[in-house]
Amino acid sequence: MLGLMMDMPLLVSQLIRHADRHHGATEIVSKTVEGTIHRYTYRDAHKRARQLANALKRLGVGPQDRVATLAWNGHRHFEIYYAVAGSGAVIHTINPRLFPDQINYIGNHAEDKVVFYDTTFAPLIDKLKSQLKSVKHWVPMNDEYDRLLDAQSDDFEWPSFDENTAVCLCYTSGTTGNPKGALYSHRSTIIHAYASALPDAINLSARDVILPVVPMFHVNAWGLPYACALVGAKLVFPAQHLDGKSLHELFESEEVTMSAGVPTVWLGLLNYMKEKKLRFTTLKRVVIGGSACPPAMIRAFQEEYGVEVLHAWGMTEMSPLGTVTTFKAKHRKWSAEERTRLQNKQGRVLFGVDLRIVDENGRDLPWDGKAFGDLQVRGPWVIKSYFKAEGGDPLKDGWFPTGDVCTIDADGYIQVTDRSKDVIKSGGEWISSIDLENIAVAHPAIAEAAVIGVKHPKWDERPIIVAVKKPGQEVSKDDLLRFYEGKIAKWWMPDDVVFVKELPHTATGKLSKLTLRQQMKDYKLGAG
Ligand code: AMP
Repeated sequence: MLGLMMDMPLLVSQLIRHADRHHGATEIVSKTVEGTIHRYTYRDAHKRARQLANALKRLGVGPQDRVATLAWNGHRHFEIYYAVAGSGAVIHTINPRLFPDQINYIGNHAEDKVVFYDTTFAPLIDKLKSQLKSVKHWVPMNDEYDRLLDAQSDDFEWPSFDENTAVCLCYTSGTTGNPKGALYSHRSTIIHAYASALPDAINLSARDVILPVVPMFHVNAWGLPYACALVGAKLVFPAQHLDGKSLHELFESEEVTMSAGVPTVWLGLLNYMKEKKLRFTTLKRVVIGGSACPPAMIRAFQEEYGVEVLHAWGMTEMSPLGTVTTFKAKHRKWSAEERTRLQNKQGRVLFGVDLRIVDENGRDLPWDGKAFGDLQVRGPWVIKSYFKAEGGDPLKDGWFPTGDVCTIDADGYIQVTDRSKDVIKSGGEWISSIDLENIAVAHPAIAEAAVIGVKHPKWDERPIIVAVKKPGQEVSKDDLLRFYEGKIAKWWMPDDVVFVKELPHTATGKLSKLTLRQQMKDYKLGAG
């Protein structure tokens, strides 16, 4: 016997329709690429998305055609998200920080038909034009884009179709080999938006003013353009103006209550605020993820600025949210110190995602906060295959192997100790590079640090620190190593420190240990 409830597919167009009808006057504010401020409302955005849907039809975009963007966070990008998705095509958000060769590869692989781009990327677009064979139209997101919309009526009925239809294509950064595409569906996108908005996830509401620092080309700004429409939150977009000064000004002038981004961008903001002795007037929460949030950053936000940190973990293959560190009732009794320690973990799973850790033979490991193994996940917003089946079947017994090594404690909080490719094996035991990096960056003179394993004749591998000093600060090798004493087991003590001017990063702002290991390939322990 089937349930007798209406058979309504979950479609992304419903989000913008809802935001228009129930939060029509709520603002979407964008700092433009040119540096001016643009303001309009969900109602205006919905109207322009309908005009754009008509324009896409004129450009010959049909169901499931791929429409790419090379764009910063802004109102036009937001309209493209909804126009493309709502009309049944697929939006492909390209990360402009990828190497040009990778962009060529993914543009051709996705067979993009139209490319919308911010004018800051014009030089890149000039190079791409001869390479991307499938592209019929290149549209700069300036007056030309506006004229394209203005020529169209806003009379457009969002079509209804199967909720499992593809809506958005995001490629992984592809540290080894070519990037692979994660293809989300309308259904997965809506369920992910519901789950991420919950109080124990990232806690979004119509009372919030949300500024996604995380780019709309990095896993859909972690789904915020969808989740904000779902709850009717005011949105603030920063374009490419992500330096400390620009961000702080926008946070203050638009009364931002919540933001989200990777640790590197917060580092810039916190340094600027400290230097200028500034405060936040309205900011209450920041979501920090994409790579491990150093405890020193959690403390700075919470203790110095009174801003709550939500440490989150996820990945492109998971739309992206998997876990967030939020407290349970019992933690109310815990000391501030204990609570902060819990926040160093990546958190509890969102309902909908199932997870486990397994050993090298695929056997389940205990949830005791000590045993660590490969983290596997499954759920309605986790991929089952990459676009065009690249790389074959990624699943193991129905689970997606994340490539992260984690512990899980009895309350279900995960802690990522490493990417499986980055673990340091010393004397048959594993050393967590993330733990060692967190200690290094807690030192007042260290700006950024990476810990990698180097070959050792007796122990197989030993950890060394590669660190960048803060401008104008001094610290010696021995001082830094002394800073570890009492904080770790003796055998975890790094064997050396190498100071460098800068560390290599990936297109999504993470430390690129692959590149770092290549840069350090001639390094020998004990040689210096
Ligand atoms: P991406 O698909 O580019 O977003 O990368 C996903 C990967 O980033 C994960 O598999 C983790 O290795 C890493 N990651 C994301 N969030 C965190 C976090 N909070 N702590 C540690 N690693 C993280």
